[in-house]
Amino acid sequence: MADKDPVKNCPVCGSAAAARLVEDYFQPVLRKRYSILRCADCGADFSDPMDNPPPGTYPELYPDVEAFPGMTADWRFETFFANVPAPRKILDIGCGWGLFIHFAILKGYDASGIDYSPQKTPGAETLAPGRITRTYIPDFLRQAQASSLDAVTLFDVLEHLDDPRGVLREAARILNPGGLIAVTVPDRRSCKTLINRHYDSPPHHLTRWDPAAMQAALEKAGFSVRSTVQQPLTFAALLTRFVSPVTTFISRTASGAPSGGAARMEAGQPARRSIQRKAAAIFGKAVISTVAAAPALILYLWCLLFKPYGPAFFMLAERKA
Ligand SMILES: [Zn+2]
Repeated sequence: MADKDPVKNCPVCGSAAAARLVEDYFQPVLRKRYSILRCADCGADFSDPMDNPPPGTYPELYPDVEAFPGMTADWRFETFFANVPAPRKILDIGCGWGLFIHFAILKGYDASGIDYSPQKTPGAETLAPGRITRTYIPDFLRQAQASSLDAVTLFDVLEHLDDPRGVLREAARILNPGGLIAVTVPDRRSCKTLINRHYDSPPHHLTRWDPAAMQAALEKAGFSVRSTVQQPLTFAALLTRFVSPVTTFISRTASGAPSGGAARMEAGQPARRSIQRKAAAIFGKAVISTVAAAPALILYLWCLLFKPYGPAFFMLAERKA
Protein backbone atom coordinates (compact mmCIF):
# COMPACT_ATOMS: atom_id res chain seq x y z
CA MET A 1 0.00 0.00 0.00
CA ALA A 2 1.47 3.34 -1.07
CA ASP A 3 1.93 6.00 1.56
CA LYS A 4 -0.11 9.13 1.35
CA ASP A 5 1.40 12.51 0.67
CA PRO A 6 2.72 14.42 3.69
CA VAL A 7 -0.09 16.11 5.59
CA LYS A 8 -0.19 19.82 4.71
CA ASN A 9 -3.24 21.15 6.55
CA CYS A 10 -4.61 20.05 9.91
CA PRO A 11 -6.98 17.12 9.14
CA VAL A 12 -9.16 18.14 12.08
CA CYS A 13 -9.79 21.84 11.43
CA GLY A 14 -8.15 22.52 8.05
CA SER A 15 -5.69 25.08 9.45
CA ALA A 16 -2.55 25.68 7.41
CA ALA A 17 -0.74 27.12 10.43
CA ALA A 18 2.58 25.43 11.20
CA ALA A 19 2.01 22.39 13.42
CA ARG A 20 4.41 21.53 16.25
CA LEU A 21 6.12 18.12 16.43
CA VAL A 22 5.16 16.44 19.71
CA GLU A 23 6.49 12.93 19.06
CA ASP A 24 8.57 11.03 16.59
CA TYR A 25 6.80 7.68 16.85
CA PHE A 26 8.18 4.36 15.66
CA GLN A 27 5.64 1.56 15.05
CA PRO A 28 7.53 -1.65 15.88
CA VAL A 29 5.34 -4.16 13.98
CA LEU A 30 5.22 -2.17 10.73
CA ARG A 31 8.75 -0.84 11.39
CA LYS A 32 7.55 2.55 10.26
CA ARG A 33 8.05 6.10 11.54
CA TYR A 34 5.23 8.57 12.09
CA SER A 35 5.39 12.21 13.11
CA ILE A 36 2.77 13.22 15.67
CA LEU A 37 2.00 16.92 15.11
CA ARG A 38 -0.07 19.34 17.19
CA CYS A 39 -2.22 21.88 15.35
CA ALA A 40 -1.54 25.47 16.39
CA ASP A 41 -5.21 26.36 15.86
CA CYS A 42 -7.41 23.56 17.25
CA GLY A 43 -4.84 21.79 19.45
CA ALA A 44 -5.58 18.31 18.11
CA ASP A 45 -2.68 15.93 17.48
CA PHE A 46 -2.52 14.20 14.12
CA SER A 47 -0.30 11.65 12.46
CA ASP A 48 1.87 12.30 9.44
CA PRO A 49 1.27 10.25 7.36
CA MET A 50 -2.49 9.81 8.05
CA ASP A 51 -2.41 6.15 7.05
CA ASN A 52 -4.89 3.53 8.22
CA PRO A 53 -3.37 0.11 9.01
CA PRO A 54 -2.67 -2.07 5.96
CA PRO A 55 -5.44 -4.65 5.39
CA GLY A 56 -5.07 -7.76 7.51
CA THR A 57 -2.51 -6.35 9.94
CA TYR A 58 -4.92 -5.39 12.72
CA PRO A 59 -4.76 -8.61 14.78
CA GLU A 60 -0.97 -8.53 14.73
CA LEU A 61 -0.76 -4.82 15.49
CA TYR A 62 -3.32 -4.76 18.30
CA PRO A 63 -4.01 -8.23 19.67
CA ASP A 64 -5.73 -7.01 22.85
CA VAL A 65 -8.05 -4.22 21.69
CA GLU A 66 -10.66 -5.69 19.38
CA ALA A 67 -12.18 -8.56 21.35
CA PHE A 68 -15.96 -8.64 21.71
CA PRO A 69 -16.70 -6.63 24.89
CA GLY A 70 -19.74 -8.65 25.94
CA MET A 71 -23.38 -7.64 26.18
CA THR A 72 -22.84 -4.61 28.38
CA ALA A 73 -24.13 -1.07 27.97
CA ASP A 74 -20.89 0.60 29.01
CA TRP A 75 -20.29 4.13 30.32
CA ARG A 76 -20.42 5.68 26.83
CA PHE A 77 -23.90 4.36 26.10
CA GLU A 78 -25.20 5.09 29.60
CA THR A 79 -23.91 8.67 29.39
CA PHE A 80 -25.68 9.10 26.06
CA PHE A 81 -28.96 7.66 27.34
CA ALA A 82 -28.79 9.90 30.42
CA ASN A 83 -28.30 13.03 28.32
CA VAL A 84 -30.38 12.45 25.18
CA PRO A 85 -34.03 11.63 25.84
CA ALA A 86 -35.82 9.11 23.61
CA PRO A 87 -37.39 8.74 21.16
CA ARG A 88 -34.84 10.08 18.71
CA LYS A 89 -33.68 9.13 15.23
CA ILE A 90 -30.00 8.23 15.65
CA LEU A 91 -27.16 7.21 13.34
CA ASP A 92 -24.25 5.39 15.01
CA ILE A 93 -21.19 6.06 12.84
CA GLY A 94 -18.62 3.26 13.09
CA CYS A 95 -21.11 0.99 14.85
CA GLY A 96 -18.98 -2.20 14.89
CA TRP A 97 -20.96 -5.06 16.46
CA GLY A 98 -24.10 -2.89 16.62
CA LEU A 99 -24.03 -3.05 20.41
CA PHE A 100 -25.07 0.58 20.89
CA ILE A 101 -27.89 0.22 18.32
CA HIS A 102 -29.08 -2.89 20.13
CA PHE A 103 -29.38 -1.08 23.47
CA ALA A 104 -30.75 2.13 21.91
CA ILE A 105 -33.62 0.24 20.24
CA LEU A 106 -34.43 -1.46 23.56
CA LYS A 107 -34.69 2.00 25.11
CA GLY A 108 -37.05 3.28 22.42
CA TYR A 109 -34.70 5.16 20.09
CA ASP A 110 -34.97 4.77 16.33
CA ALA A 111 -31.34 3.76 15.79
CA SER A 112 -29.32 2.58 12.79
CA GLY A 113 -25.63 2.40 12.01
CA ILE A 114 -22.91 2.60 9.41
CA ASP A 115 -19.61 0.73 9.35
CA TYR A 116 -17.30 -0.34 6.59
CA SER A 117 -16.95 -3.82 8.04
CA PRO A 118 -19.27 -4.42 11.00
CA GLN A 119 -17.81 -6.85 13.51
CA LYS A 120 -19.68 -10.01 14.36
CA THR A 121 -20.20 -11.40 17.81
CA PRO A 122 -18.42 -14.71 18.40
CA GLY A 123 -20.49 -17.29 16.56
CA ALA A 124 -23.37 -14.92 15.86
CA GLU A 125 -24.69 -12.30 13.45
CA THR A 126 -24.51 -8.60 14.08
CA LEU A 127 -26.52 -7.43 17.10
CA ALA A 128 -28.66 -5.08 15.00
CA PRO A 129 -29.85 -7.08 11.97
CA GLY A 130 -31.24 -4.90 9.20
CA ARG A 131 -30.05 -1.73 10.89
CA ILE A 132 -26.45 -1.55 9.69
CA THR A 133 -25.26 -0.28 6.31
CA ARG A 134 -21.94 -1.72 5.22
CA THR A 135 -20.04 0.80 3.17
CA TYR A 136 -17.28 3.38 3.38
CA ILE A 137 -18.31 5.93 6.02
CA PRO A 138 -17.48 9.13 4.05
CA ASP A 139 -19.39 7.86 0.98
CA PHE A 140 -22.43 7.05 3.09
CA LEU A 141 -22.41 10.45 4.80
CA ARG A 142 -22.04 12.36 1.53
CA GLN A 143 -25.12 10.62 0.13
CA ALA A 144 -27.21 10.94 3.30
CA GLN A 145 -30.12 13.36 3.29
CA ALA A 146 -29.47 16.76 4.87
CA SER A 147 -31.25 17.62 8.13
CA SER A 148 -32.66 14.11 8.53
CA LEU A 149 -31.46 12.99 11.99
CA ASP A 150 -31.88 13.97 15.62
CA ALA A 151 -28.52 12.62 16.79
CA VAL A 152 -25.32 11.04 15.52
CA THR A 153 -22.86 9.11 17.65
CA LEU A 154 -19.16 8.43 17.16
CA PHE A 155 -18.05 6.12 19.96
CA ASP A 156 -14.27 5.59 19.82
CA VAL A 157 -14.29 6.14 16.06
CA LEU A 158 -13.09 9.67 15.26
CA GLU A 159 -9.49 8.88 16.23
CA HIS A 160 -9.39 6.12 13.58
CA LEU A 161 -10.57 8.25 10.65
CA ASP A 162 -8.23 9.79 8.10
CA ASP A 163 -10.65 12.67 7.45
CA PRO A 164 -12.12 13.64 10.84
CA ARG A 165 -12.89 17.15 9.61
CA GLY A 166 -14.95 15.91 6.67
CA VAL A 167 -16.89 13.46 8.86
CA LEU A 168 -17.71 16.12 11.48
CA ARG A 169 -18.88 18.54 8.81
CA GLU A 170 -21.04 15.88 7.16
CA ALA A 171 -22.44 14.98 10.58
CA ALA A 172 -23.49 18.61 11.04
CA ARG A 173 -25.11 18.63 7.60
CA ILE A 174 -27.23 15.53 8.10
CA LEU A 175 -28.45 16.62 11.56
CA ASN A 176 -31.54 18.71 12.11
CA PRO A 177 -30.85 22.20 13.48
CA GLY A 178 -30.47 21.63 17.21
CA GLY A 179 -29.55 17.98 16.53
CA LEU A 180 -26.95 16.39 18.78
CA ILE A 181 -23.58 14.79 18.21
CA ALA A 182 -22.07 12.53 20.87
CA VAL A 183 -18.37 11.71 20.59
CA THR A 184 -16.06 9.60 22.73
CA VAL A 185 -12.30 9.42 22.21
CA PRO A 186 -9.31 8.46 24.37
CA ASP A 187 -7.94 11.33 26.44
CA ARG A 188 -4.31 11.77 25.38
CA ARG A 189 -3.45 13.13 28.85
CA SER A 190 -4.53 9.89 30.54
CA CYS A 191 -1.95 7.66 32.21
CA LYS A 192 -3.31 4.77 30.12
CA THR A 193 -0.88 5.85 27.43
CA LEU A 194 2.00 5.46 29.90
CA ILE A 195 1.23 1.74 30.10
CA ASN A 196 0.62 1.13 26.41
CA ARG A 197 1.93 3.92 24.20
CA HIS A 198 1.09 2.02 21.02
CA TYR A 199 -2.60 2.10 21.90
CA ASP A 200 -3.15 5.81 21.20
CA SER A 201 -0.70 5.97 18.30
CA PRO A 202 -0.77 5.51 14.51
CA PRO A 203 -1.83 3.69 12.51
CA HIS A 204 -4.42 2.56 15.09
CA HIS A 205 -5.27 6.11 16.14
CA LEU A 206 -4.50 8.82 13.59
CA THR A 207 -5.52 11.68 15.88
CA ARG A 208 -5.12 12.29 19.64
CA TRP A 209 -7.45 14.42 21.71
CA ASP A 210 -8.13 16.31 24.87
CA PRO A 211 -11.45 18.05 25.63
CA ALA A 212 -10.21 21.49 24.53
CA ALA A 213 -9.13 20.18 21.13
CA MET A 214 -12.43 18.32 20.68
CA GLN A 215 -14.41 21.42 21.59
CA ALA A 216 -12.45 23.47 19.03
CA ALA A 217 -12.98 20.82 16.34
CA LEU A 218 -16.71 20.58 17.02
CA GLU A 219 -17.16 24.35 17.03
CA LYS A 220 -15.32 24.67 13.71
CA ALA A 221 -17.60 22.00 12.25
CA GLY A 222 -20.73 23.93 13.24
CA PHE A 223 -21.56 22.68 16.75
CA SER A 224 -21.78 24.25 20.18
CA VAL A 225 -20.70 22.03 23.07
CA ARG A 226 -23.27 21.19 25.74
CA SER A 227 -21.37 18.97 28.14
CA THR A 228 -18.24 16.88 28.70
CA VAL A 229 -18.04 13.75 30.84
CA GLN A 230 -14.76 12.05 31.79
CA GLN A 231 -14.67 8.27 31.94
CA PRO A 232 -13.78 7.45 35.56
CA LEU A 233 -10.28 6.13 36.10
CA THR A 234 -10.62 2.92 38.11
CA PHE A 235 -7.97 0.71 39.64
CA ALA A 236 -9.55 -2.36 38.03
CA ALA A 237 -9.25 -0.82 34.55
CA LEU A 238 -5.66 0.19 35.20
CA LEU A 239 -4.77 -3.28 36.45
CA THR A 240 -6.41 -4.85 33.39
CA ARG A 241 -4.46 -2.54 31.14
CA PHE A 242 -1.32 -3.44 33.02
CA VAL A 243 -1.69 -7.19 32.70
CA SER A 244 -3.65 -7.58 29.45
CA PRO A 245 -0.64 -7.82 27.10
CA VAL A 246 0.79 -10.60 29.28
CA THR A 247 -2.51 -12.45 29.73
CA THR A 248 -3.28 -12.16 26.01
CA PHE A 249 0.07 -13.79 25.31
CA ILE A 250 -0.65 -16.54 27.85
CA SER A 251 -4.13 -17.17 26.41
CA ARG A 252 -2.82 -17.36 22.89
CA THR A 253 -0.06 -19.71 23.92
CA ALA A 254 -2.55 -21.89 25.80
CA SER A 255 -5.11 -22.10 22.98
CA GLY A 256 -2.84 -21.85 19.97
CA ALA A 257 -1.95 -24.78 17.72
CA PRO A 258 1.19 -26.48 18.94
CA SER A 259 3.89 -27.35 16.45
CA GLY A 260 6.39 -30.11 15.74
CA GLY A 261 7.14 -32.53 18.58
CA ALA A 262 4.57 -31.00 20.90
CA ALA A 263 1.79 -31.82 18.42
CA ARG A 264 2.90 -35.44 18.11
CA MET A 265 3.37 -35.90 21.85
CA GLU A 266 -0.16 -34.83 22.72
CA ALA A 267 -1.95 -36.62 19.89
CA GLY A 268 -3.18 -39.40 22.18
CA GLN A 269 -4.51 -37.17 24.95
CA PRO A 270 -5.84 -33.96 23.34
CA ALA A 271 -8.70 -33.42 25.85
CA ARG A 272 -6.45 -33.80 28.90
CA ARG A 273 -3.82 -31.53 27.37
CA SER A 274 -6.48 -28.93 26.59
CA ILE A 275 -7.73 -28.91 30.19
CA GLN A 276 -4.16 -28.65 31.45
CA ARG A 277 -3.52 -25.69 29.15
CA LYS A 278 -6.68 -23.90 30.29
CA ALA A 279 -5.82 -24.49 33.94
CA ALA A 280 -2.32 -23.18 33.32
CA ALA A 281 -3.76 -20.09 31.62
CA ILE A 282 -6.08 -19.34 34.57
CA PHE A 283 -3.24 -19.91 37.04
CA GLY A 284 -0.93 -17.73 34.94
CA LYS A 285 -3.45 -14.89 34.83
CA ALA A 286 -3.92 -15.05 38.60
CA VAL A 287 -0.15 -14.94 39.18
CA ILE A 288 0.39 -12.08 36.74
CA SER A 289 -2.49 -10.08 38.24
CA THR A 290 -1.15 -10.59 41.77
CA VAL A 291 2.37 -9.64 40.76
CA ALA A 292 1.06 -6.59 38.85
CA ALA A 293 -1.22 -5.39 41.66
CA ALA A 294 1.46 -3.55 43.65
CA PRO A 295 2.97 -1.54 40.75
CA ALA A 296 -0.53 -0.93 39.36
CA LEU A 297 -1.65 0.47 42.72
CA ILE A 298 1.40 2.76 42.89
CA LEU A 299 0.71 3.96 39.34
CA TYR A 300 -2.98 4.44 40.14
CA LEU A 301 -2.18 6.68 43.13
CA TRP A 302 0.38 8.57 41.05
CA CYS A 303 -2.20 9.12 38.30
CA LEU A 304 -4.81 10.36 40.80
CA LEU A 305 -2.29 12.91 42.07
CA PHE A 306 -0.61 14.05 38.85
CA LYS A 307 -2.70 12.95 35.84
CA PRO A 308 -6.29 12.80 37.09
CA TYR A 309 -7.81 12.27 33.66
CA GLY A 310 -10.05 9.43 32.65
CA PRO A 311 -8.92 7.03 29.90
CA ALA A 312 -11.51 8.65 27.61
CA PHE A 313 -14.08 11.43 27.56
CA PHE A 314 -17.59 11.92 26.21
CA MET A 315 -18.62 15.19 24.59
CA LEU A 316 -22.15 16.17 23.63
CA ALA A 317 -22.67 19.08 21.22
CA GLU A 318 -25.59 20.67 19.43
CA ARG A 319 -25.74 21.65 15.77
CA LYS A 320 -26.01 25.41 15.48
CA ALA A 321 -29.15 26.60 13.68
ZN1 LIG B 1 -6.45 21.96 13.67
